[in-house]
Amino acid sequence: MTRPPHPCPGIDATPCGTPTPAGTPRCPPCQATLTRRLDARRPNAAARGYDTRWQNTRAAYLAAHPACVTCGQPARHVDHIDGAGPLAPNGHDWTNLQSLCHPCHSRKTATTDGGWGHRTTTTTTDQPPRRPATRPF
Ligand SMILES: [Zn+2]
Ligand SMILES: [Zn+2]
Repeated sequence: MTRPPHPCPGIDATPCGTPTPAGTPRCPPCQATLTRRLDARRPNAAARGYDTRWQNTRAAYLAAHPACVTCGQPARHVDHIDGAGPLAPNGHDWTNLQSLCHPCHSRKTATTDGGWGHRTTTTTTDQPPRRPATRPF
């Protein structure tokens, strides 16, 4: 069943009015603007140094070192050997980088993050203690 398009409600109480296909909340330009804004708000990868500069370093390194250092499969990740990320002094130093395929990268992440050093953020103590059902006195 097809519904007629509706006028785009726009963003921030500024109606846009562009006919928008039913099932889509906003017209594509408004939706794109909104998505960009949400992306900018959350502490994202760029804030941790994984920005355009890193993308360039990463691409250049991967082009020069296309194989995973652990298993020789085609690499998809450029890993910081010191684990400190692009913002660290050696963040863009090729001697501190290594190419890893996805499985090997996941393995390394699993053993370093959440292993010794870093604590995982999973807590089970957030919930209030379960209260016993009301007892008759
Ligand atoms: Zn719109
Ligand atoms: Zn590998």
